[in-house]
Amino acid sequence: MSDESQPEQGAPRPDSRLKAGGKLPGRPRGGGDQPGPSRTPQAPGGPRSVPGRSPWRATGILVVLLILGWFVVGVFGSSAPAPRQLSYTTFLSQASAGKVRSVTISSSGGLTGTLKDGQTFTSQVPTALGQSDLVAQMQKDHVGLTATGSGTDWAALLWTFVSLGLLGGLFFFMTRRASAQVGAFGGVGKVRAKVSDTERPTTTFADVAGYEGVKREVAEIIEFLRTPERYRRAGAVGPRGILMLGPPGTGKTLLARAIAGEASVPFLSVTGSAFVEMFVGVGAARVRDLFVNARKVAPAIIFIDEVDAIGQRRGGSMVSNDEREQTLNQLLSEMDGFDPAEGIVVLAATNRPEVLDPALLRPGRFDRQVVVPLPTRSERHAILTVHSRDKHLAPGVDLDAVARATPGFSGADLANLANEAAICAVRAGRAIIEADDFGEARDRILLGHRDASRVLLADERHSVAVHESGHAIVAALLPDADPVAKVSILPAGQALGVTEQLPLDERHLFSERHLLAALAVRLGGRAAEIVVNGEGSTGAADDLASATQLATRMVREFGLSPEMGPVGYTTGSPMYLGKEEVTMRTYSEATQRVVDEAVQRILREAEDRATRLLQTHRAALDKLAELLVEKETIDGSAVDEVLAAAGHRLVRRGAA
Ligand code: ADP
Ligand code: ZN
Repeated sequence: MSDESQPEQGAPRPDSRLKAGGKLPGRPRGGGDQPGPSRTPQAPGGPRSVPGRSPWRATGILVVLLILGWFVVGVFGSSAPAPRQLSYTTFLSQASAGKVRSVTISSSGGLTGTLKDGQTFTSQVPTALGQSDLVAQMQKDHVGLTATGSGTDWAALLWTFVSLGLLGGLFFFMTRRASAQVGAFGGVGKVRAKVSDTERPTTTFADVAGYEGVKREVAEIIEFLRTPERYRRAGAVGPRGILMLGPPGTGKTLLARAIAGEASVPFLSVTGSAFVEMFVGVGAARVRDLFVNARKVAPAIIFIDEVDAIGQRRGGSMVSNDEREQTLNQLLSEMDGFDPAEGIVVLAATNRPEVLDPALLRPGRFDRQVVVPLPTRSERHAILTVHSRDKHLAPGVDLDAVARATPGFSGADLANLANEAAICAVRAGRAIIEADDFGEARDRILLGHRDASRVLLADERHSVAVHESGHAIVAALLPDADPVAKVSILPAGQALGVTEQLPLDERHLFSERHLLAALAVRLGGRAAEIVVNGEGSTGAADDLASATQLATRMVREFGLSPEMGPVGYTTGSPMYLGKEEVTMRTYSEATQRVVDEAVQRILREAEDRATRLLQTHRAALDKLAELLVEKETIDGSAVDEVLAAAGHRLVRRGAA
């Protein structure tokens, strides 16, 4: 479909606050960065090209001047009346005619001199003739013999000196320029790069939807920043550092900015990775600068995003990293060193708290920790509401339904979703966003862009339809499985088809029954292929992998198998080999065998269960597959209808 391949350049980006890029790990934020051509990648640490530019320009001008000067000296130096070239015989005859005032003979027989009329000349004694005759001849002709021997050409010598001097100067300035360049990138040179951006945000808590608990926890910081003197007078130590823990995109930066906005204090933000450079000492110098700058504008907030880039456990990795350790030490000493009454609060964000050096978490440093989790359903609703403020929604749009359909979405994902929905509407030539736009935007974000080039062959379509129908029917038939929301055989992302299930409510705890039902649903796709086609296919690989992962956790972590009994092996403590995280197995080879066998048994049973269900409801399975081939995408309710038409009464579990 041609509209899928349209670039999104012309699409509006109503949410300019959406932070483009700058995030390291974590899952990609879908289209958040997408209306891409306008996005300019920025080096971490802010606009560094700016401080780097002025020395560049100054040295550039100097170099040009030098080259010009060199040129001028060369040209005008030699534009003094050029010496006349005389043959040796002409020279001798001129000398005997008394027309030569003086001459200099070099050891190689080169002659330079001046005639009586002021004209300079050069000549050469032929190598065949000796020079001793010449000297006698000159004395006879009364020619002033000014120098003999080395035959120093003073003009040439001077010229050489000047050239050398200029070359040396050029070289000097080139190296200066190079070091200025290094300075611009690494802060080593005289010019130190600016690492932080100082701003006075206008963001307030009204821009941060949900997270009431987090807001309450940070309320005291705002109080402190507004009136640090009050704390000082009472002899109280204000908060110094707060660590915000949470997955990417959950609004940690937004919160930090809102705290600064609420307290109306300057906000200095840096990214941890901007500190870690290849030059030892740069990071530490930057940390120092950061705090110097903050002190100048205090009370202020310093925000360090991705603090794990500097704050990793010292000596923990196999490769020691002096630079990072120096930077971390500097950060620690700055945090210890500042007077709490100065009114500087350091906020830091990370999604990998486990790698942080414990020293960072000690009292007086980041001694308070605030968890910023993925938003709950009602928070998702609130975030969607915030990001739909300036958009026109059709009356039929139910943001609560959208929130329900987006478990696991972060705030950034939701901001992105609202934006993508608006783009979908624009693409359809509408100014008003319909419910379907949200559906499509969600599919895009979840599954990546639909790949129109991957058109399925007719028999492939049928196989995919059978596979998806298998998932759908098993899910519809098992009361403990989440109900089916949508079934599709449209290729989306990596998947050839999708069966979506929506939980009725957000779960934090899953019963064994629930997990076993989920396994049967996952294996239902492959079971259907075998029931209908008599053989499996490669299409089930992802299902098998995720089912195996779940079954393994059931056996190893949740104690949900009779073979292993009530054991819960954690996945072991992660170790770092360079950047790779390696998890060590914490049990024996023999135990591993038991685990493997238990996992296989659980999976076999789940597949048998799915197969039995599908065999008993074969008519419904065939009917649904047919319907899918025809319609490509159907609602969950259509699955129930097909089953009802085939004579089955569905037992639905209650809403709790
Ligand atoms: P983090 O720093 O945790 O990675 P950000 O603060 O950069 O996440 O969040 C990215 C964007 O997601 C924000 O700019 C905002 O548009 C949106 N967002 C995240 N959480 C919320 C929220 N609670 N309310 C409103 N918007 C949010
Ligand atoms: Zn499947």
